Amino acid sequence: MSATPLVSQVDSHNPEKSELIPLLGASVVELSAWVQQQGQPAYRGKQLHEWIYQKGARSLSDISVFPKQWRAEVAEIPIGRSTIHHRAVAPDGTIKYLLELADSQIIETVGIPTFGEGGKGPKSRLTVCVSTQVGCPMACDFCATGKGGYKRNLAVHEIVDQVLTVQEDFQQRVSNVVFMGLGEPLLNTENVLAALKSLNQDVGIGARSLTVSTVGIRDRIRQFAQHHLQVTLAVSLHAPNQALREKLIPSARAYPLEDLLTECREYVEITGRRVTFEYILLAGVNDLPEHALQLAKCLRGFQSHVNLIPYNPIEEVDYKRPNRDHIQAFVNILKQQQIAVSVRYSRGLEADAACGQLRASKN
Ligand code: SAH
Repeated sequence: MSATPLVSQVDSHNPEKSELIPLLGASVVELSAWVQQQGQPAYRGKQLHEWIYQKGARSLSDISVFPKQWRAEVAEIPIGRSTIHHRAVAPDGTIKYLLELADSQIIETVGIPTFGEGGKGPKSRLTVCVSTQVGCPMACDFCATGKGGYKRNLAVHEIVDQVLTVQEDFQQRVSNVVFMGLGEPLLNTENVLAALKSLNQDVGIGARSLTVSTVGIRDRIRQFAQHHLQVTLAVSLHAPNQALREKLIPSARAYPLEDLLTECREYVEITGRRVTFEYILLAGVNDLPEHALQLAKCLRGFQSHVNLIPYNPIEEVDYKRPNRDHIQAFVNILKQQQIAVSVRYSRGLEADAACGQLRASKN
């Protein structure tokens, strides 16, 4: 986010139409510039930053360290927080939220706690799965979000807000953020980049603990690489050949697998970071031994990691999740082929865990 919109929040040519730009997503430098523009000393910017990102202020009128009169003057300027419309807790501690935005649109966010084991295992973590759009235009066949259509991109504050909301609700610092909720992040690259920057610099989450997942949009992975971020890129592959991928992902017709893999290789060269490939396992569709072998061939010599995601059933289509033996057989073939692989079981199935499912059932 640049300092400009913050400073000129009200369009002087058309004050009726001007929209107040929310402050969430702005850096301490931008907030300091803004308070000075308002005739306040620069240190108020630092205070504002702390109240927004650490104390969770929802309105400027809440900020008790600010002079009363100024608070009243700026009370209308939004910080940009959402409200919790619905909250579903799964037995494993995962919490799914439906958040209501200023224009009444509803998005989905998930908080996924991982508990340290008896003090010996990894420290307890809290991962947030954030949405980047209201709905999604990609219409992948197995995905509940696509079935609900597409409304709009999320603004920077609407992405950062999701992380603050989960952090407040769990009363625990968020350690990881995955951009795997509603929407296609690389169709909203500018706001996603600004949100990544704010999550890193304002909320304080390490860049390597941020993961952006994309189905692949032509040229966008290359452009994303030019920013040389330390974040993880996850690419939703889901099929080891073009014919099958086209059946599952309509956008693959205009952007062949070969081109996608070429861009991913460039991403590795430019950033020096490996790519994660996500691969949904759909019983009898893409989970046969021949598919594992083809996948291994596609990725040979590629600095990458395969994340297998057993399909999470959704109502609209009748794909099936493979059983554990099938999943293990697929893993074993990849391992024999020297491909780094892990299986990601969806958390909180009971709370309609698949992308877009809660929104479909409760909205
Ligand atoms: N549009 C981005 C990010 C959102 S989806 C992308 O496609 O990567 C995040 C991940 O969840 C993707 O890999 C997506 O394919 C997967 N997913 C969607 N529906 C699913 C389902 N029913 N079961 C399992 N994974 C699913």
